Amino acid sequence: MNRNASRFDTNQACSFLGVEAIRQLQTRLLRRHLKLCREHSPYYHNLLGDFDFSGFKIGDLARIPTTDKAILSEKNDLFTAVPEDEIRDISFSSGTTGAACRINYTENDLDRLAYNDAVGFASAGIGRGDRVLLTCTIDRCFIAGLAYYMGVRKLGATAIRNGINSLESHADIITQLKPSSIVGVPSFLRHLGIFLKENKIDSTCVRRLICIGEPLRDENMETSSLGKQLLQAWSAQIFSTYASSEIVTSFTECSAQCGGHLPPDLAILEIVDESGNPLPSGAIGEVTVTPLQVTGMPLIRFRTGDIGFMIDKPCRCGRSSPRIGPIIGRKAHMLKIKGTTIFPTAFFTVLDSSPEIAEYYLEASGDGLSDRVEIFVALKKQGIRLDHVAKRIQARSRLSVPMRELPMEDVRKKVFSTSRKPVRFFDLRKA
Ligand SMILES: [Zn+2]
Repeated sequence: MNRNASRFDTNQACSFLGVEAIRQLQTRLLRRHLKLCREHSPYYHNLLGDFDFSGFKIGDLARIPTTDKAILSEKNDLFTAVPEDEIRDISFSSGTTGAACRINYTENDLDRLAYNDAVGFASAGIGRGDRVLLTCTIDRCFIAGLAYYMGVRKLGATAIRNGINSLESHADIITQLKPSSIVGVPSFLRHLGIFLKENKIDSTCVRRLICIGEPLRDENMETSSLGKQLLQAWSAQIFSTYASSEIVTSFTECSAQCGGHLPPDLAILEIVDESGNPLPSGAIGEVTVTPLQVTGMPLIRFRTGDIGFMIDKPCRCGRSSPRIGPIIGRKAHMLKIKGTTIFPTAFFTVLDSSPEIAEYYLEASGDGLSDRVEIFVALKKQGIRLDHVAKRIQARSRLSVPMRELPMEDVRKKVFSTSRKPVRFFDLRKA
């Protein structure tokens, strides 16, 4: 088999297969994937030994140990399963903790990625003839922006690569080119939507916002306050999408907007407990993905470090593939304060919906026994009191958390200084 031959045709996407057909397809692809891992990846060659995959079922996956970013980073080279001259793109996965991992993509992987994003965009209703404004970077060794661009092309839609640019520049593009869809980070799209409204710039051409990096739903699948603010600022539908560089697979919401769909031919999704045991649908645990049909750096049971849950009931859109709910938090960001376990997102939810707060960030500190949190805020107007916000935080978290007011400039500088995405959690805890 020529491992570089393209096998990803959007006309043959299997999004609407039934549960049994998905199981059969995934079993076949999984066996092929495991064989490829053992034969070509030095890491998995050592790990899998003479494991017999001929009768291997999806339920047997739990017999194989999980892997994570720390292992991938430490043994980076051992995960590469192709000769150097078959690598077409080298990216780095962004990490909030530890060293960045190098990810090698082959021609097959880039083609697979284009297909992955095309299928995701299609589930959100984008198709041929749509103009898609991309407000994310396509370079800097990140894969996401390139994946969106390739996905738009693969779908037969038109990409407008305005990237990370000023509000004025995006406003000009929207006026001139009338995109039907925008891909971007929701908190940025909120700023852009408010800017357009304040300047009386017509944005009614935009019918869909594809939102990356920050969830739009809460744990009960209700639209979050960030999602509500987007709906107020735009006359567009909002779609959440979840992905990472390592899993090379995205989970994008459909028109029913109740969780991101797994492309069943591209990955197997598990939610696992601390020891790596799979948890039932609806249970909260670590999002763990086995990406299928990858050749450059194939992975088995990759623990993403993100905490979420799976929904396996058939969707109103007609797809039977499992869905992923909103990411509740990063495993590494889990806080233990006076016996309460909580993720920073719980505080974000309150702060996002507080009309007094313009911008904010959190700092965690502690020595490993009990964590401490302090919230830093910039207010919309000088002189507003913070009592109401503090009460809301206490009601949500049952914790009394100190808050400090800072000038807007200082807070924004901190939030937007370290990453392409806004960073609102700073972890100063001793390991
Ligand atoms: Zn659906």
